[in-house]
Amino acid sequence: MEIIYYGHAAFLLKGSKIVFIDPYLTDNPSSTISPQDIHECDVVIVTHDHGDHLGDAFDICKNTGAIFVSQHELACIAQEKGLKAEGMNIGGTIPVNGIDIHMTHALHTTETGHPTGVIVTMDDHSIYHAGDTGLFSDMKLISEMYHPEVSLLPIGDRYTMGITEAVKAVEFLNPTYVIPMHYGTFPLIETNPEELKKRVGEMAKVVILKPGEKFEL
Ligand code: ZN
Repeated sequence: MEIIYYGHAAFLLKGSKIVFIDPYLTDNPSSTISPQDIHECDVVIVTHDHGDHLGDAFDICKNTGAIFVSQHELACIAQEKGLKAEGMNIGGTIPVNGIDIHMTHALHTTETGHPTGVIVTMDDHSIYHAGDTGLFSDMKLISEMYHPEVSLLPIGDRYTMGITEAVKAVEFLNPTYVIPMHYGTFPLIETNPEELKKRVGEMAKVVILKPGEKFEL
């Protein structure tokens, strides 16, 4: 599987299916592509409705026929727009287009519904996208029950965890790989991912991706 980072919290997972999480491209100063560049997509997952996460999700679903997946209230808005949508809620798991999506808690705010994180299981790999969140100790439970191999963690501070909290999150989650996100897009969330790498040390492999770069699992 390939994990491609498009800056901020936008990740494309390319395995037997193509899954886009939080596809913020158009106004994303760090994105290397525009939504028109996405010709194939099976599932679009949105962790919460803030503009830097919902991003171009509706347009990508419209252009590619991808299924929109999010927390129930936001999925209803997608359905009202005539899109194929699967609503779910925190604690549940659903199969969509041959992949499994589990929805987790996230400590954050939203305009509609509740903020979330997701664990995507595809081709025997499991990837946890934490969404925008502060640190919470139930990350231990996420590790114990779902064993995510890769954790995508925000480190930009101010609106989410900073590096100190992300290091503790790695301890709780015990993943093989950590990919930092939600930093450096704007001056307000400028942090140094090398600092995370140094402080995580031997606990996990920290993979720092520049926008447009990919990591192969
Ligand atoms: Zn947010």
